[in-house]
Amino acid sequence: MTNPFENALAQLARANTVSPVNPTLLTLLQAPNREIRISIPVSMDDGSVRVFEGYRVEYNNARGPYKGGIRYHQDTDIYEVKALALWMALKCAVANIPMGGGKGGVTVDPKKLSKKELENLSRGWIRELADVLGPTKDVPAPDVNTTSEIMDWMNDEYGKITGDTTGAFITGKSLDKGGSEGRGTATAQGGFYVFEALRSRFGLPDKCTVVVQGFGNAGLNACELWTKAGHMIVGTSDSQGAIVKADGIDVDALKAYKKEKGTVIGFPGSTTVTNAQLLETACDVLIPAALENQITKENAANIKAKVVLELANGPTTPEADDILFGRNIPVVPDILANSGGVTVSTYEWEQNMKNEHWTEAQVFEKLKAAMNAEANGIADKAATLKTDLRRAAFLIALGRIGEAMKLK
Ligand code: NAD
Repeated sequence: MTNPFENALAQLARANTVSPVNPTLLTLLQAPNREIRISIPVSMDDGSVRVFEGYRVEYNNARGPYKGGIRYHQDTDIYEVKALALWMALKCAVANIPMGGGKGGVTVDPKKLSKKELENLSRGWIRELADVLGPTKDVPAPDVNTTSEIMDWMNDEYGKITGDTTGAFITGKSLDKGGSEGRGTATAQGGFYVFEALRSRFGLPDKCTVVVQGFGNAGLNACELWTKAGHMIVGTSDSQGAIVKADGIDVDALKAYKKEKGTVIGFPGSTTVTNAQLLETACDVLIPAALENQITKENAANIKAKVVLELANGPTTPEADDILFGRNIPVVPDILANSGGVTVSTYEWEQNMKNEHWTEAQVFEKLKAAMNAEANGIADKAATLKTDLRRAAFLIALGRIGEAMKLK
């Protein structure tokens, strides 16, 4: 599999071919400010101790504290975390929020741990990193396989160690522990606002057919939001495999089915397909909402969607970007499409810092205005430069980070 950090650096170089970026800035962004590797000893239920490898990468803080989620996955390694941290720095700049970029992770298959072991691991991650984290230093959040419950354990552990119980050092907490209204669905909601802002520019119909890869936080909420707006979900997947249903999937029924069976496979009326076939299913909008490196030079020529909207981070490789751009298939890049998550995370941080509580309506009104402005700004820049949306988004982000670094 391609190393996602190499892809992220290749994307930087690709943006530079359209409009030259300050060479000093490009040099500075080739490596993170710091990368931390930790060993986390965990007491297991059988009385043994296992040691897990964990990470925190602090990429760039020119615009504010490092900000980025924590991923628990068996394939997570330092290269993936570095790529995600660089994308966070760019994403926070695109979203125009006062945050820099960071990311964390643990190499672990959380499905193989009991709840108690998962809690021990999560508290251990905080114990090893409490020194470098903090509301004005480095603010983590959830990502793949980490939940608000995990954020709550982490928040509790951090409070015990540092005495800071404002909750502002971590976002994605549950509502009664200082979380923000709307944070749970913010990533998909932000992506939906971007889609709405750009739909007519893409020439998409009022009612679209949609394929969503992944049925977790980002994917499931996307299925629900697009369905609620009258669009039709014709395919989806989870780590066990993929399903398609040309006459539309009843998302509520699928959610209940997945809860009972633990997978989307076998959903009544659907056909099981491979992950590769799912991505190549004919539809108006393809929404990757799982992991990196899904649309590559091997399958980009076969994508039949009219538009790709990246809720996942890094699902499209740079070679695939070139192929899709050549085929006139717009790709709404991750650093714009999924920036609703970190935007509402920043609202949560702001509420914690000021000891305020905003209503869901207030949160989504602010989010909609922000996503609209950024989506249109990026689409205008892409049109002016006759380039794709990713390069336009990178150039806007790099301009903002460069400005902040100059001011410092
Ligand atoms: P999640 O753990 O809630 O869900 C991940 C989903 O992907 C699950 O349905 C899982 O079964 C599925 N999956 C895993 N491996 C797969 C595979 N090989 N093929 C198909 N499906 C597979 O995670 P999430 O929070 O929804 O994150 C999904 C993506 O969205 C990630 O790239 C993440 O970085 C990105 N993202 C999430 C947020 C957020 O707020 N949750 C914010 C920004 C970006």
